[in-house]
Amino acid sequence: MTHTTYLGFPRIGRRRELKRALENYWRDGDATPLLDTARDLRQRHWQLASAAGMQTVAVNDFSLYDQVLDTAVLFDAVPDRYRPLLHKDPLAGYFAMARGNAELHALEMTKWFDTNYHYIVPELHAGQRFQLTANKPLNEWLEARALGLNARPVLLGPVSFLRLSKTVDGSDPLNLLDALIPAYAELLKQLAQAGVPWVQLDEPCLVQDLDLASRHACTVAYNTLATSPLPKRLLTTYFGGLGDNLALATDLPVDGLHVDLVRAPEQLDSILSALPRHCVLSAGVVDGRAIWRSDPRRVLPLLEKIAASRGTERLWLAPSCSLLHIPLDAAQETSLPPTLRSWLAFAKQKLEELRLYADALNGSDSAKQALVEQTFLLATRKHEPGVHRNDVRNRVHTLSAQAMQRRSSLKHRLQVQADALALPPLPTTTIGSFPQTDALRSARAEHRAGRIDENTYETVLREEIERVIRFQERIGLDVLVHGEPERNDMVEYFGEQLDGFAFTRHGWVQSYGSRCVKPPIIWGDVSRPHPMTVRWSRYAQSLTDKPVKGMLTGPVTVLQWSFVRDDLPREQVCLQLALALRDEVHDLETAGIRVIQIDEPALREGLPIRHAEHAAYLDWAVRCFRIAASGIRDTTQIHTHMCYSEFNDIIEAVAALDADVISIESSRSRMELLRAFEDFRYPGSIGPGVYDIHSPRVPSQEEMVELLERALTVLEPGQLWVNPDCGLKTRGWKEVEPTLIAMVNAAKALRAAL
Ligand code: GLN
Ligand code: ZN
Repeated sequence: MTHTTYLGFPRIGRRRELKRALENYWRDGDATPLLDTARDLRQRHWQLASAAGMQTVAVNDFSLYDQVLDTAVLFDAVPDRYRPLLHKDPLAGYFAMARGNAELHALEMTKWFDTNYHYIVPELHAGQRFQLTANKPLNEWLEARALGLNARPVLLGPVSFLRLSKTVDGSDPLNLLDALIPAYAELLKQLAQAGVPWVQLDEPCLVQDLDLASRHACTVAYNTLATSPLPKRLLTTYFGGLGDNLALATDLPVDGLHVDLVRAPEQLDSILSALPRHCVLSAGVVDGRAIWRSDPRRVLPLLEKIAASRGTERLWLAPSCSLLHIPLDAAQETSLPPTLRSWLAFAKQKLEELRLYADALNGSDSAKQALVEQTFLLATRKHEPGVHRNDVRNRVHTLSAQAMQRRSSLKHRLQVQADALALPPLPTTTIGSFPQTDALRSARAEHRAGRIDENTYETVLREEIERVIRFQERIGLDVLVHGEPERNDMVEYFGEQLDGFAFTRHGWVQSYGSRCVKPPIIWGDVSRPHPMTVRWSRYAQSLTDKPVKGMLTGPVTVLQWSFVRDDLPREQVCLQLALALRDEVHDLETAGIRVIQIDEPALREGLPIRHAEHAAYLDWAVRCFRIAASGIRDTTQIHTHMCYSEFNDIIEAVAALDADVISIESSRSRMELLRAFEDFRYPGSIGPGVYDIHSPRVPSQEEMVELLERALTVLEPGQLWVNPDCGLKTRGWKEVEPTLIAMVNAAKALRAAL
């Protein structure tokens, strides 16, 4: 009989209980309520999964902050600076690693594969020693068993763990494999002794391009671990296909293999022929990354093929990956239109779907009937008004190559813009947002709740814009911004004004620790019924003679930070977004805005996991940006902004955006990243950030001068702009005011010396 399970579950809670509990603990230091909430959430989620028809629940998928950090702590891979605290107060030590405290800075954080989840990067060193500490996986297994549940501990596999870590001395983390394996072996032994039948070893690295060393590490690790006594091991791969690692994975001595048949259904045939008969096949057939109900016409043929090839005795059904990346329960979204809601499957609904598929495979007529109904329901989707709009589709299809082309070359444009804008050398600007004060936030909340009327809210915003403009004039910035006081979030703000978007009430997804995001849903064809930002920019520009920069979120970033429909290729959705933004850019120009910034902070994170797919993605991503940015006069200056510091592998695409000016994050790396631009002979202007806006620290004028001098060793003076790393919305005026004054003075000091 087909077995049902899942690789991991959202942990933040239906009402973000974990977030609240964490924040309370960080405020008052009382661990008991936090640990109670955590236990409660774990148990509630297991019960929920079990009630939804899961025969085995995942344990140790829960974390107070992050599962990679948990793995580091589990094996004592802790940098010395945290040890005293960790011994005195393990919880305080754990959170010091996660987020720092007054004395200790936090470990680094970075994105988990191609998701918007951030994990804590373990910090290792050559000669690192590992040993098993308190056994969290076992404790959670015992907890689930006490509730009468079948449970399987989830562990991050040793090779992925090392590959996700960094070393302080630059040595290869994989060198530590021999030291790490005995600690894993000890863990597996203890689990086996306690009676744990199965463990899950996550090796998502198996869907990446692997060098020889990593491939070898997999073989060594799993062969070494394959000595008794052991629980059975389910090796899980997700976020893509095994590709050239398929033989490697199917040869490893494990008892089961989980594969992603949503992103890579084409791998099924080779897996069926390569996977040993005695191995369990865990088929990831419903999409753990998307919020849509699955189409039985896609899933059933896969299942039938598996059943025909190897029977259902050793077949498990699961979502493609952990459900960490989607919200918990679509049934909570009672304010969405019922039709849209009927198309959605969040974590709970995904498990219910799996149950149906398993029952259908096991011969249940009612399950088969339910799947027929689901097929029927999804088939009506394309007829729903707004899903397919001829006007939008035609516009995309008739797009000409010219629509992607500015009228003249970058060199020429920069010349005419210099005349038109009459800016000094080393022009100063900011990235867009100014501090979102409590007064602003509460005015927005009051307005949303209907407690203050449109006019009052409008007045609050206008006053704020005027204040921000006057401030910038007073301190002598060259290109001003309106400060974005009207925006809640840089994607939501645009989504709310575009057709084809919907917003959930409770659709929270963990981004890191207690931080959650609530991505909008793109369900239909996207178009812009009316201008979105023009009146604010026009108002700001009416207050001053200096140029005010219009401020837009780019098409790729809107796409990347939304849940995107699954019935149209992402590229097509992005093109629709690009055209909507193109109209906005045009309208801004007509309204007298001479500089327009199109933010693309998510361009890089859209890169596919496999290198072979990078070029195709970058090609359409760049095309979309250019469509948004090209329908204007040469004198109108296009800026773009990206806040990350790795450009080496995307520098050509960044140049191909053909933006006149690009601002980037660079203060932490002390301008190191400019090398990429230098080597490439980047033709446009660049504003490398001189103010780290992630830190409350106020940098001095001298520091900023020094950073700019470093930049000038790489860039031409005529190429250099002066700006912070990113928007200022999370900072307070107390920090922003002195810093921007120092920044303007730094630019002036350097100008005098040019
Ligand atoms: N214009 C946005 C701001 O200033 C850019 C934010 C971002 O890059 N993430 O807030
Ligand atoms: Zn930014």
